[in-house]
Amino acid sequence: MAGRPEIAVIGAGLAGVRLAGLLRDVATVKIFEKSRGTGGRMSTRRAEGFQFDHGAQYFTARGEAFRAFLAPFIASGTVAEWKPRLRAAPSDRQTDELRWNASRYVGVPAMNSLCKAAAGALAVAHGDAVRTLHRHADGWKLELASGEEAGPFAAVLSTAPAVQTAALLPQEMSGRAALEGARMLGCYSLMCGFVDLPDLGWDALVCDGSPLAWIAAGHSRPGRTDAAALLCQTSNAWAEENLERDQQDIQQELLSALADATGLNTDAASYVSLHRWRYAAVQTPAGRPCLFDPDLGVGAAGDWCEHGRVEAAFDSAEALAAEVKSYLARKGFR
Ligand SMILES: Cc1cc2nc3c(=O)[nH]c(=O)nc-3n(C[C@H](O)[C@H](O)[C@H](O)COP(=O)(O)OP(=O)(O)OC[C@H]3O[C@@H](n4cnc5c(N)ncnc54)[C@H](O)[C@@H]3O)c2cc1C
Repeated sequence: MAGRPEIAVIGAGLAGVRLAGLLRDVATVKIFEKSRGTGGRMSTRRAEGFQFDHGAQYFTARGEAFRAFLAPFIASGTVAEWKPRLRAAPSDRQTDELRWNASRYVGVPAMNSLCKAAAGALAVAHGDAVRTLHRHADGWKLELASGEEAGPFAAVLSTAPAVQTAALLPQEMSGRAALEGARMLGCYSLMCGFVDLPDLGWDALVCDGSPLAWIAAGHSRPGRTDAAALLCQTSNAWAEENLERDQQDIQQELLSALADATGLNTDAASYVSLHRWRYAAVQTPAGRPCLFDPDLGVGAAGDWCEHGRVEAAFDSAEALAAEVKSYLARKGFR
């Protein structure tokens, strides 16, 4: 019988930490994350006393497995329901978002709290991107942006967005066509902090006829500080058309859009910042729960596999973990 296998997971978003958590009973798992924090697109920025959840705004839990996973985090207060006062702009606009009454959950005290808690004691190497994979007789080695090498690993599993996963995994892997068929769209997040902001009468504004699609009062989420933090997100279509423009111009245009949609004097913002997401939402999913090539020992999971939302990242990780476990069992690992 073979010894305990070592597995590399690329990415510390929800898919990566869930996948690593599921595999730790059967393998020694190491997560490689290019950014300095855990959470991926369930992200939080803190600056000048303000806190912005500038990626995922909330998540829903439709399936049994995700609900069961969330239950202990809800019990411990790491996840809570957010019940925003939702309005439309212009105010006569009809939108399903206003009628929709499913529970909306957020991490507490920040959106990345769920991934941090789920990662627990897992080994995560932050701040060094995986650049390339090399296949050797004894397994896969990872070449990192720092020039360091890691491995060998019996399997390498990527949870990076589809385009980044496609750049890393071998051309000859099975499921390559599905991976390359996945399309993701960009988004801009404009962050504005105000020292003094009156009650706006809403916690989230669903916008139309504007570059902005969504404006949320981040401080209305449970467990946040009172510091008034508005998070504005563009529509994916607008972002796609404007991804390569000068970022200062984009920031000015979005500040004007915020003023138009809300009537706020944006000059009063004491903190303003812009974040460009190249891969925020899924336009075309890969169309399968996960990808795994048992001959090569490489696989992939993420929201882009099926639905493009937080719960889909979780579901995809569950699917890949099941595939990898049966692969390891077939190989004689216990
Ligand atoms: C602006 C925005 C708004 C959103 N709103 C919602 C919402 O309201 N509701 C909802 O359900 N979902 C929303 N989403 C989508 C949601 O955030 C994602 O579905 C989910 O977080 C994806 O998780 P993941 O683990 O699949 O991927 P990610 O969270 O993207 O994790 C992938 C990780 O891989 C890392 N990585 C990439 N390349 C490398 C490399 N070469 N080496 C090492 N690490 C690498 C990345 O840094 C990242 O941390 C939103 C996303 C954005 C950006």
